[in-house]
Amino acid sequence: MGRQNHDLTEAQWQALVATWGGCAYCGRTDGALQKDCMLPIANGGRYTLTNVVPACPSCNASKCSTEVTTWLRRKRMDEPAFLARQLEVLRRLQPEVPD
Ligand SMILES: [Zn+2]
Repeated sequence: MGRQNHDLTEAQWQALVATWGGCAYCGRTDGALQKDCMLPIANGGRYTLTNVVPACPSCNASKCSTEVTTWLRRKRMDEPAFLARQLEVLRRLQPEVPD
């Protein structure tokens, strides 16, 4: 595997957690949230503001290294709602994200 560029800062991570207000997938607020890469590292994803969401241990373990939309469909979760929320969070954190 090539070099990984882990450029998510601690401040960005805290902002992500605060803006999502819980697990990005199921909304749980209890327990420690973990950094989940929507595009898994194994698939070329990186720890960046646009690729990381907070996930509870249960969702993180279930999703593992599955690509996020594949996993959401498998879990029958609301994929469009998740993607819209994710874009909204990014817009709040970095206003320069294009439409
Ligand atoms: Zn969860």
